[in-house]
Amino acid sequence: MTVDLLITDAYIYIDRGHEIPNGWIAIKDGRVHSTGAGGQTPPVASRAIDARGQLVTPGLINAHHHMYQNLTRSYAPVTNGTLFEWLQGLYPLWAGLDEESVYLSTFVAMVELLMGGCTTSMDHMYVHPRPNLIDAQFRSAHEIGFRFHATRGSMTRSVEDGGLPPASVVQDEDTILADSERLVTKFHDPAPGAMDRVALAPCSLFSVSERIMRESAAMADRHDLRLHTHLAEDPEEDTYCAEVYGCTPTEYFERVGWASPRSWVAHYIYPSSSEIDRLAHAGVCTAQCPCSNMMIGGGAADAMNLRARGMRVGLGCDGSASTDHASMWLETRMALLLGRFRNGPHSMSARDALDMATRGGAACLGREDELGHLRVGACADLVIWKMSEVALAGALTDPVEAWLRCAPAVAGTTIVNGKILVEDGVPRLSGLNEVLRAHMHEARRIQRLTD
Ligand SMILES: [Zn+2]
Repeated sequence: MTVDLLITDAYIYIDRGHEIPNGWIAIKDGRVHSTGAGGQTPPVASRAIDARGQLVTPGLINAHHHMYQNLTRSYAPVTNGTLFEWLQGLYPLWAGLDEESVYLSTFVAMVELLMGGCTTSMDHMYVHPRPNLIDAQFRSAHEIGFRFHATRGSMTRSVEDGGLPPASVVQDEDTILADSERLVTKFHDPAPGAMDRVALAPCSLFSVSERIMRESAAMADRHDLRLHTHLAEDPEEDTYCAEVYGCTPTEYFERVGWASPRSWVAHYIYPSSSEIDRLAHAGVCTAQCPCSNMMIGGGAADAMNLRARGMRVGLGCDGSASTDHASMWLETRMALLLGRFRNGPHSMSARDALDMATRGGAACLGREDELGHLRVGACADLVIWKMSEVALAGALTDPVEAWLRCAPAVAGTTIVNGKILVEDGVPRLSGLNEVLRAHMHEARRIQRLTD
């Protein structure tokens, strides 16, 4: 019996508490076939990679993102605004999104994610000025071979209704619900090993109606889907919820039927202790977005406290305009720094951060059985990190700590579903340069810049 791919002589981080210092990992049919230590004989393989001196980890999982925002990265007029100022400055630009620009921005985002060691990502696509934008995202994912969880975002409440966005980027409730049903029917694959999944993701409590929150939860129950939204991200959200709903964001979240094991939320920065306990008990997961939170200067969730209270916490790079990058390695490193800065050097290790970026992300997406670890039978999503760089010279005692404290920032080889998509740091994709040129053109159009 011959396996498809064999990686040898690596330091392999299989899962929390399971590492093989000098081991091999074999892949067959998109799954981890077998693993072993140096003294054990590996199976015969069609292709072998000598990863001597390198670290192998599960692929990192991005649990919160807005890929289209890479069309307005580092957009000067709003780079120093608050969250609400930043959103209000960019909504009119995002009203220019169409299928082509979303296809291109998704393609660029996925390549950037792969280069940072990410093998599975969700995307929270909540601006729909034109139809079929998530269809365009799946086109990118299929062309690249990326494992993709699209989330059908939505906004119903424009400025005229007391919301934040202009009327040009909101939709009526029936359109949102019908399109959500359509996308689930067309793309959602509930089978093990799925490359395509769909979740429902009203943008935030202050941008959608109560009916959308309630009916999304009901639709998720009907089709066995996951639910996602931003929650407790900003103090202004507390003020809004108090005025409009007469309660806190978490209380409203519970009231509309979202406190369930189907839900994962982005940020969750401003809950009370008892609210954290309640959502943890309900099985809600959180995606912390350290770089976005720090860039926007709005506080950040205390991830280790959430974990200690029983909540599963993943990591997300958030929108490419608030964070301006899409490297999950950088997010993982930043989660480590943020945790230690907040709670001291004993509070968090590189392994805690890696656990959040792998198993934590898989929990957010409801796929801990097959993603976020490299146990036999898991999806063959993994990264070989280059460990022989100048920046790692002298780091001899702990490859996992060294990986996150020193370097490498970019992945060496990224493998998704058993296929090599990045090799020696270079994406193995034809047509990338054409995509980048077209992306530049679309970014200029959306930012209303003339050539
Ligand atoms: Zn976000």
